[in-house]
Amino acid sequence: MRSKNACLVCGRPLKYFTSPKQMECCFCHKKFLSYACCEEGHFVCDECHSEKGIEAIISFCQNTDSSDPIKIVQTIMKDPYIYMHGPEHHTMVGAALLTAYRNAGGDIDLPSALAEMHERGRQYPGGSCGFWGCCGAAVSTGMFMSIITDTTPLSTGTWGYSNEITSRALAEIATYGGPRCCKRNSFTAILAAAEYTAEKTGVEMEIPDNVICTFSSENHECLGKKCPYHKSSNMI
Ligand SMILES: [Zn+2]
Ligand SMILES: [Zn+2]
Repeated sequence: MRSKNACLVCGRPLKYFTSPKQMECCFCHKKFLSYACCEEGHFVCDECHSEKGIEAIISFCQNTDSSDPIKIVQTIMKDPYIYMHGPEHHTMVGAALLTAYRNAGGDIDLPSALAEMHERGRQYPGGSCGFWGCCGAAVSTGMFMSIITDTTPLSTGTWGYSNEITSRALAEIATYGGPRCCKRNSFTAILAAAEYTAEKTGVEMEIPDNVICTFSSENHECLGKKCPYHKSSNMI
């Protein structure tokens, strides 16, 4: 698998400029001002990068038989199209839960559920954890619950489930404080959501005994040993 600091087109290292230059995106051919391109001059815009990330999420989920949503996101997170932080996590969390739920015996049509997750997840803006007070990884668990229960604004019991699962995930996420980390928030949201889903539906996804993050060194704002998933928090 390619390094995240390599060109998505040719795999060569990126180079950075001290002032932005006009670049044409290799995928959509629109022009942008950018501080970086690869040594060969390739440039990929943020929108195309994130769309490629979503494609990587959906295609992995369609082809795995895992019922462990943590393992599913940890594999997807290694894809070079997935940033350390970014709104693709708003789709990834729900997609991993839908996949693990189906593979654990949940009765859903996965391809159409994933398509719906893609559509809803992409609408939730990046930075909402700090600006709106509601992390997108938590909202993604609400989208997951809404999709598996066919909930709408007019539903009764499952309307409560969809809101409660988000609130459980969000309350857990809040306990660790900031700065935000899309990896920490995704793991936390998934653990809370898997537990809630088992309570309400009886479908038990597989959950690892402990979750160890392998992305800490890429995160400049990592909480280190204050993060429950940091390797130093998991030494026995
Ligand atoms: Zn290149
Ligand atoms: Zn583009």
